[in-house]
Order: sequence, then structure tokens, then C-alpha cells
Amino acid sequence: MKFVTIQSGAEHHLGILQDGKGVLDVAASSKALLNRELPRTLLELIEAGAKGLDDARKLSEAAQMKTDYWKTTAGIKLCAPIPRMRKNVFCVGRNYKLHIEEGARARGVPASFPKVPEFFSKPPTTVIGSGDDIVWDARVTKQLDYEVELGIVIGKNAKNVTEANALDHVFGYTVINDVSAREVQRDHGQWFKGKSLDTFCPIGPCVVTADEFGDPSGHRLTTKVNGGMRQDSNTSDLLFTCPQILMWLSLGITLEPGDMIATGTPSGVALGMNPQAWMQHGDLCEVEVEGIGVLGNKVRRVE
Ligand code: MG
Repeated sequence: MKFVTIQSGAEHHLGILQDGKGVLDVAASSKALLNRELPRTLLELIEAGAKGLDDARKLSEAAQMKTDYWKTTAGIKLCAPIPRMRKNVFCVGRNYKLHIEEGARARGVPASFPKVPEFFSKPPTTVIGSGDDIVWDARVTKQLDYEVELGIVIGKNAKNVTEANALDHVFGYTVINDVSAREVQRDHGQWFKGKSLDTFCPIGPCVVTADEFGDPSGHRLTTKVNGGMRQDSNTSDLLFTCPQILMWLSLGITLEPGDMIATGTPSGVALGMNPQAWMQHGDLCEVEVEGIGVLGNKVRRVE
């Protein structure tokens, strides 16, 4: 199944997205179709575990013939799947071979490959949804870059998991754009600041459940800026696979339902281009992971 979060007045509602049918507002339809209340947000649904998913399936089945309940995506404001994260988005840096090489080349240093995943994070204030603007303050950065990444959404508490059982703790997958201010990233000697400016973490357009997405390896991921292809790779090229990332990250750290992990970006970022084609005001950046969807955001410069 695919889940979205939609703006409904001042509230955020959980929606079920079905290709060819549109979006079903769970809160608005569950009382009428199932005569009971279902979780109102994606976070509540994830926390409800297997029962939550089962209820969502029943609601979707009950709504199949009720065309009035489905709205076209064109008339809906999509938000990030979890608009206000409870904690930072976890991220893996330098996790595709060609991206490591392009980054080293751009900085004039020899390429070195990590022995263990390199983690950093982005605070909840970075998170925006599909269609929201990436706000660019040119006083803070002149090197605005994009990074398409497969995002993992945690389904249940995970600590010290093994590579073999890691994926049992995954609710689903989403697309994350790890927007980066390159000179800020470099000048502060640590990535957190340059990765954490407001609006620098578009997430969406939906979360696909783990059973529907299947093996997280083998999915194409791309970035287009104003329609022009910039990144084009496959999650099978990850240095550390999703189970390995979860094994390392959960070593001594409890991952909780709704936590998200951006798994790293492939080559083709503006940093690695010659000349470096940083994002500019008005640019439309579309990142996509096969099997999930397109996450599109425009750059808006503020003074
Ligand atoms: Mg990244």
C-alpha cells in the first residue's frame, strides 16, 4: 500500500494513495465505511503495528466501489509523510562509490571509502513535503545542491538488530532529497550545519509499505533539474545495504516507529559537475525512486 499525508484545513490527515483511483482520506471515510475510527496520522498508523495496516487494508477494500470517497491528487495538498518528525532524520553520507569519487575529485583529495557507515542527521525543521519550496537564502549559501536518496521508515523499535532480521523492523520506504549547502558543509568541518538549513529535507510524495516495495536493492533513483537528468543510478550500487545500515545505526541506538533514514546519494550532484551547476531561484528539482514516486520541489530565493 501507499500512504500520503494530506492537508485538511489546519490538520494533517492520513491518506491511502491508489494508482488510477486517487487518495482516500482515512479520517473522513473510516467512520462511514467501517463504522469506527482509524489512525488519523501516518505516525499513529505505524505505531498501531500490524493491526493498523490490516485496518487500512479493510478500509481500502470497503472503498473500492465508493468513487465519491476518492479524490484526485491534483486537488490535494500533499505534506511530508510525517510533517513534524519527533527527532532528526538520520542520514548516511558517502554511500555510493561513484559519488565518493566525484566528491573527492571536486575537493582535490584522494578518494577513500568508509569502512563503516558515516552518519549525520537533519533536524525536524528541515522537513517539507512534495510541492513545497526549498527556501534558498543566498547570504547563507551560494552552493545549493540536491541529493536523491532512498528513505527507510522504521516500523517498530529496533536496537542491535542483525543484518538478517533488520528489514523486519521497516514499515516502508520513501524518497528523500538531502538538500545540501556545500560550502557550509565544508567550512564548518562537519556536515550537520550545511545539511540542516530550514526546508533542506523534502520527503515524499508517499510512503510505500515494505511488502509492496519488496527488496530495497534494485530500484532506480534519479534527479532531474528543470527536466534535465542529473543523477541516474540504482540502489543496488549502495556500498552499505539497507540491512547493513540498520545494523550499524541500531548498534546501541534505539530506532523507533516513524524514524527515517536517508541511505545516501549516488553520483551526479552539482558539486561533482564541471562547471558546478548549483540550483538557482525558480529551478524545479524532481527526485524519484522507482516504485515510490516523484518528489518535486521548486527553489525560492529569499532576501
Ligand atoms: Mg546525502
